[in-house]
Amino acid sequence: MNLEKIVRENIWQLKPYSCARDEFSGEASVWLDANESPYNNPYNRYPDPLQSKVKAKLAGMRGAVPEQMFLGVGSDECIDTVYRVFCNPGIDNVVAIAPSYGMYEVCADINDVAYRKAMLTEDFDIDIQAIFEKVDQHTKVVWICSPNNPTGNAFSRNSIEAICAGFAGIVVVDEAYIDFSDKGSMVGLLYKYPNLIVLQTMSKAWGSASIRLGIAFASPQIIAIFNKVKYPYNINLLTQNYALEMLNRNSEVQTWVDVTIQQRQAMAEQLAALPIVEKIFPSDANFLLARVTDADGIYNYLCNRGIVVRNRNNVPLCKGCIRFTVGTAEENTNLINALSNYGK
Ligand SMILES: *Cc1c(COP(=O)(O)O)cnc(C)c1O
Repeated sequence: MNLEKIVRENIWQLKPYSCARDEFSGEASVWLDANESPYNNPYNRYPDPLQSKVKAKLAGMRGAVPEQMFLGVGSDECIDTVYRVFCNPGIDNVVAIAPSYGMYEVCADINDVAYRKAMLTEDFDIDIQAIFEKVDQHTKVVWICSPNNPTGNAFSRNSIEAICAGFAGIVVVDEAYIDFSDKGSMVGLLYKYPNLIVLQTMSKAWGSASIRLGIAFASPQIIAIFNKVKYPYNINLLTQNYALEMLNRNSEVQTWVDVTIQQRQAMAEQLAALPIVEKIFPSDANFLLARVTDADGIYNYLCNRGIVVRNRNNVPLCKGCIRFTVGTAEENTNLINALSNYGK
């Protein structure tokens, strides 16, 4: 792959802003280089622009080296950065599986990049043929989300690899829900596919949506370009410190994941027993997509009882479907109880 041909010309040429902490990042006792206040330690100081402590910790846990990691303000920043680095506004396009996560299309619209949808099959499997049919010489990126939101299923590694191998541009695999799946991560394949970008996040399994921390794994060459495009101090100190704390609590996090997977199974069985539930789709994530008799009616009924779920009735291929996040045992019981009284 020739990265120079895929990256936007202006980005390839970009001379990045050089911040004080880029020029000197060693140990010192007197810091008079960045016009910071000398008071209110440690928040008076600009944070580490490349988040080396967080990346070092993540590296050991996720099987990648720090040079293969970019940290963003949520996956949102990673998604937007993909467009800003690779897609010329008004000229280039991307191809994405559909239905999938809404932010890929919103960021395409913001960046004036045409967004082409390759529908999944009726049983929500990836349609490789449909993806390749949408690709033309202006297609820079293919978006895959696995496990997919809102359908919940993960795609086979063979299918994803076929796209990485058969497409000359960038393939992004969003693994926001990977910790809930027994299909492994694609991070280990970064060496095999230089056009692969894998997204993960602390927002789901790690229980830290509020701190806004997303991770893009890719080749060191791609990461170096992302680093020159990002805001210099994109990840604040509070977030970096809290992320480190959570990464150190990983056995506790694994327990949350295990319990959530058990609850997902229990919830699937309880939902299936309700007459208003027509079908529950297999899930590799922390939510269940179910087809119900009257999605709008059931959604409004639950809202009136203070239970908020996601109505996917108007999403193509998801007609009649509601997406239920798996909560605590108590929350799930409240949901099932409410649903069993619907229409009574
Ligand atoms: C929830 C979710 C994310 C997380 O986004 P953040 O900006 O990291 O909170 C990313 N991708 C998908 C598909 C999601 O459902």
